[in-house]
Amino acid sequence: MASRRYFIETWGCQMNELDTQRMAGQLMQQGLLPTEDATEASVILLNSCSVREKAAQKAYSRLGIYRRYKEERPDLVIGFCGCVAQQEGEEALEKVRDLDFVVGPARVGELTEILERVRTGERVAATGFPEQRDFDLDTISRDSSYKGMVTLIEGCNKKCTFCIVPYTRGPERCRPLAEIVREVEHLLALGFVEIELLGQTVNHWKEPGDESIDFAVLLDTVARLRGLERLRFITSYPRDFTPAMVAEVGRHENICPYVHLPVQSGSNSVLKLMGRGYEVETYFDLVDQLRAARDGLALSTDLIVGFPGETDEDFEKTLELVERVRYAQIFAFKYSPRPGTPAPRLKVDVPTDDVASERLQRVFAVQDRIQLELNQELVGEEREILVTGWGKNEGSQMGRTPCHRIVHFDPQGVPADLGSLVKVRIDDASHYSLRGTRLDLGMPQAPKPRTRLTVVQ
Ligand code: SF4
Repeated sequence: MASRRYFIETWGCQMNELDTQRMAGQLMQQGLLPTEDATEASVILLNSCSVREKAAQKAYSRLGIYRRYKEERPDLVIGFCGCVAQQEGEEALEKVRDLDFVVGPARVGELTEILERVRTGERVAATGFPEQRDFDLDTISRDSSYKGMVTLIEGCNKKCTFCIVPYTRGPERCRPLAEIVREVEHLLALGFVEIELLGQTVNHWKEPGDESIDFAVLLDTVARLRGLERLRFITSYPRDFTPAMVAEVGRHENICPYVHLPVQSGSNSVLKLMGRGYEVETYFDLVDQLRAARDGLALSTDLIVGFPGETDEDFEKTLELVERVRYAQIFAFKYSPRPGTPAPRLKVDVPTDDVASERLQRVFAVQDRIQLELNQELVGEEREILVTGWGKNEGSQMGRTPCHRIVHFDPQGVPADLGSLVKVRIDDASHYSLRGTRLDLGMPQAPKPRTRLTVVQ
């Protein structure tokens, strides 16, 4: 091989990001270094996401670009990874003649041995869901030295009618608590301060073989680990949130007051067509419980507009929901059918694209107003910021509040280390971020209480 560099293009969610880090780790073990220029790489991986509209088409178009590099560099290895790769399987090898291998999300731990086979001239399709999956925590190339993602649960057992995930990531597989704790401790020993627990339905985690040990127990166990400043988790399924989990969010100061709670629609009839298994009233009840348990809790959500069967009246209910919950952030999309999912076969009227577009704009308009109002409420407050980088203006820095808002701040001439926690006064707010001034210069840091004494039932 001419150069010893790898390039990975990653689409999609945190699960994909972590899979990329796992593949990068295996490539680095083989002596390859990362590059941001695909034209100089000896290994190119496309880690695809099937939640994107026309995902397969887009993936093949990217692979078409990469395969042209082989004209100059016949040694180049090209791999197709992620959810679209899982769906396409061997067909992808037939469609793209210069593609060397296909690997599904549940098989990324096998990358080293797949590459060995590729180097002997074999073209490999590694898809499907093996019973056993090794979580090789020593071969993850983390893209941060202070924030680490840790998988709790892979796959999904739900069957929301619009979603491709159960077919691309397979049924749920939960990791044992001891293994999760070992990985978090490993990261904390390396100086990580923030841990994000991952799963498609993270709060459905249960100890394999002992259902009595659930996500509430896990949250409590992990939150008590020494040195853990911030604990996040994503994505929670509303129906799986129990009062005990709510109590843990209220109990531990280092569990960040931010919960991503996808609702998808504000109409019970649409939720039923989506197969979500809950009603808006139960969702509101959960929101109220979480807010009662934890002051200043921020919520975010996912919404789909223009779902098959969604009437004007249904959509108005979604707007009412957005007004009532007052999310700090929403991720709203127009419905678009995913091949292989049940929703396109529903025998109901489908809103036109124009109608769906108009609904989406109305959701954004309401959300923009609410988001600005919520951000403005923080002006004058002091917040602890986890420093994540440099700001847009010269000399400014940026970071995240515990409630996950972006803050650009003036470090007062004393730049803070990335990954450090600093105190900032919020001076100004816009729709998408806050601006502030660093306050803690020269001040000794008081120890923080980590666990509250009150337990919310
Ligand atoms: S819970 Fe529903 S939306 Fe979430 S991954 Fe599973 S099937 Fe998809």
